[in-house]
Amino acid sequence: MWKRRGPRIQIKSAEQIELMRVAGLVVGRTLDRLREAVKPGVTTADLDRLAEESIRDQGGVPSFRGVPGPLMPFPAVICASVNDEIVHGIPRTDKVLRDGDVISIDCGAIVGGWHGDAAITVPVGEIAPELETLLMVTEESLWRGLAAGRAGGRLSDISHAIESYIRSQPHPGGRYGIVEGYGGHGIGTEMHMDPMVPNHGAAGQGPELVPGMALAVEPMVNLGTKGTRELHDGWTVVTADGRYSAHFEHSFAVTVDGPWVLTAVDGGRERIAELNSGQNRPKGEN
Ligand code: MG
Ligand code: MG
Repeated sequence: MWKRRGPRIQIKSAEQIELMRVAGLVVGRTLDRLREAVKPGVTTADLDRLAEESIRDQGGVPSFRGVPGPLMPFPAVICASVNDEIVHGIPRTDKVLRDGDVISIDCGAIVGGWHGDAAITVPVGEIAPELETLLMVTEESLWRGLAAGRAGGRLSDISHAIESYIRSQPHPGGRYGIVEGYGGHGIGTEMHMDPMVPNHGAAGQGPELVPGMALAVEPMVNLGTKGTRELHDGWTVVTADGRYSAHFEHSFAVTVDGPWVLTAVDGGRERIAELNSGQNRPKGEN
């Protein structure tokens, strides 16, 4: 699979990774602000305006608006995907958040030619316990994936860490659907670059992870089946069975000191060190 795709992976210098960190922080801080703004009665267009203000106040340029699509370019600064919408939802003035909803907010920005890309799923008011668990499982699977992004490992170690964590978690009456066909990607001077980073698969496959690689990791997990459907707007991806979905994303760099989570305001070092110590260390590495 990897050889056939022939990924040409952009390797950044340490200085270039520092520049990517600036873009990553713009995105991370913007998502922190948006998380605070999510409440019943707010529209997804309100969140979009707030995102644009936040990105521009910090000297960034929104990167999603104008991305070419099958019917129209993406028309907004964030993707706002509510409930059964998985990704690529379009913010709307008539989309009002209600108590019990979950909203995935995906945000991208460019600073000095370098991209940052991250997403969070946020509860609106009080949500059902099974949704709380869905959000926790999805976010934790992202961190398991990031923690597997170590120099000397292989790309699919990330995919495998995500899938195996999700599969290890009890599901209320079935199993989680891990979305296929959408996933993570290389990032740098463009938002979407080689290689693709699937959210499932065996470990030990694909290109070797080397310092200077930057990847966006973004598990999408459905409460029901993994099937997806695209709406007539050519953008919004929803679950085929109408059940709710969660999506979390960070951009990180492979460094000699381990993964550096460029879009996490604290850089994620501590959380990753914790995951990579003791019982969570993959077999054979002790
Ligand atoms: Mg994204
Ligand atoms: Mg992405």
